[in-house]
Amino acid sequence: MSTSRQLQLAARPVGEPKASDFRLAQVPLPEAADGEFVVEVTHISVDPAMRGWMSAGPSYLPPVEIGEAMRALALGRVIASRNEGFAEGDLVQGAFGVQDHAVSDGAGVFKIAPGNGTSLAAHLGVLGMTGMTAYFGLLDVGRPEDGDTVLVSGAAGAVGTTVGQIAKIKGARAVGIAGGAEKCAMLVDELGFDAAIDYKAGDVADQLREHTPDGVNVFFDNVGGDILDHGLTRLARHARVVICGAISQYNATDRGRGPSNYMALLVQRASMTGFLVFDNIARYPDAVAEMSSWLADGRLTSVEDTVTGDLEDFPGTLLRLFNGENTGKLVLELQR
Ligand code: NDP
Repeated sequence: MSTSRQLQLAARPVGEPKASDFRLAQVPLPEAADGEFVVEVTHISVDPAMRGWMSAGPSYLPPVEIGEAMRALALGRVIASRNEGFAEGDLVQGAFGVQDHAVSDGAGVFKIAPGNGTSLAAHLGVLGMTGMTAYFGLLDVGRPEDGDTVLVSGAAGAVGTTVGQIAKIKGARAVGIAGGAEKCAMLVDELGFDAAIDYKAGDVADQLREHTPDGVNVFFDNVGGDILDHGLTRLARHARVVICGAISQYNATDRGRGPSNYMALLVQRASMTGFLVFDNIARYPDAVAEMSSWLADGRLTSVEDTVTGDLEDFPGTLLRLFNGENTGKLVLELQR
């Protein structure tokens, strides 16, 4: 085998990404230089942030360039190594991209020790980037206290399912906002949320009033737009709003919608804070250890949504995030 394949960005999307924004390319199989290793990618993490990485313009990472392999966090196995920290056969997680093989010098790469019944996909989810987002975003920025009400939007997704469960572990009430009766039932019946609000059914304001009678102490927002505005109307005194994401705005072709109810922050002496998981990379190992113990004792459930397919299935899989087809962590497992 002397060639590999990668899914390159072919065009910057306008609105929702589409298959023609990508192109599959044959490339030479990468070789490891001194200090490097080659990874065969097995699982690709499919994340809303990818939509932002496809756009030109300033962000927390440079945009993926046209003709470059699409950026992705991924899992894989080391197949050749000239780096003494990584041996052939090691399972590793890193920003390996939407491609069959990646070469790495080990920066930002974590070794994975599967076991205890934990799936590989969980290492991209609850024990990976989205789990770390929930853990640090909720605990550092949201700072829930015993008896607080934590409201989380995008509640049935990778980050949201984890936020609600950690809120419960910390003694808070967890109220989720998600699309559809099935997702809402899963949150309450399987994950132990105290209530779930179906934003696709009925009046969100009414449902919020019903399920947050004492207001919201922590609002962990993954969605932005109208949902953010609704949540702001329910803030309790000194509430913390965690701005984790705004998926409802990612495909906007205009400037997107900001909150109009922001004066609630003044009235309730509340704060709204942006959060980026990558600022916490040095602290991942301790968080992974704690999350693993919660998984082991059954207090935390990993919710995964694995699509089995090929690199060409990536664009369609990405779209699942924007039309709400996924529940929990969306992963593309490459079929070989
Ligand atoms: P999810 O697994 O939550 O998937 C996305 C979900 O968003 C969908 O399943 C859908 O659920 C919901 N959604 C899509 N479009 C809309 C819309 N227009 N209005 C309301 N809900 C919508 O993704 P993640 O858990 O990976 O990410 C959740 C959020 O966290 C994203 O905003 C992401 O960008 C952000 N994030 C931020 C990080 C940070 O460091 N700040 C790191 C990681 C993620 P439904 O069926 O309920 O509509």
